[in-house]
Amino acid sequence: MSSSPSESISLPPLNLPQGPEDKFREFLEIRGEKLTAPRRTLIAHIFAHHKHFDADELVSDLQTSGQRVSRATVYRTLRLLVEAGILRELRLTNRTVYEHDYGYPSHDHMHCTECGTILEFTNEEIRQLRERMASLHGFRASGHRFIITGKCGKCLRARSPRRRLDLI
Ligand SMILES: [Zn+2]
Ligand SMILES: [Zn+2]
Repeated sequence: MSSSPSESISLPPLNLPQGPEDKFREFLEIRGEKLTAPRRTLIAHIFAHHKHFDADELVSDLQTSGQRVSRATVYRTLRLLVEAGILRELRLTNRTVYEHDYGYPSHDHMHCTECGTILEFTNEEIRQLRERMASLHGFRASGHRFIITGKCGKCLRARSPRRRLDLI
């Protein structure tokens, strides 16, 4: 798999009453914890743009940009951000990635197992199906996970000339 998968992100951000930093501060205060300087650095870095990233990518990104946040702080803060509903954790076949949850429209993913590309899409039918199935079972849905795995168009096209030659 390539080290830096390309991304297709097209969803517009939502308008929020408060930023992710304020929301995280509130969450930490309830737990009797503080929004420390390294945690603020992390939040600012993570929310500079929307993408799917894993913990190691984040650590090396921070190192490259000369920001000093320890690996332990990164891992612990990521867990807290997920708990606070600010980040969403996405378990793919071979790694766990994070993305903005707070302030970002709900969506589903396709994951190319060949090049690692993650595509985002929204589909109203999936949401309706979730609500229908939940109410059928007396359940109140708060979310769902739906990841389509397979090969992206680019990887399929990259293979097709070979396939055509095979046919000759
Ligand atoms: Zn691909
Ligand atoms: Zn996403």
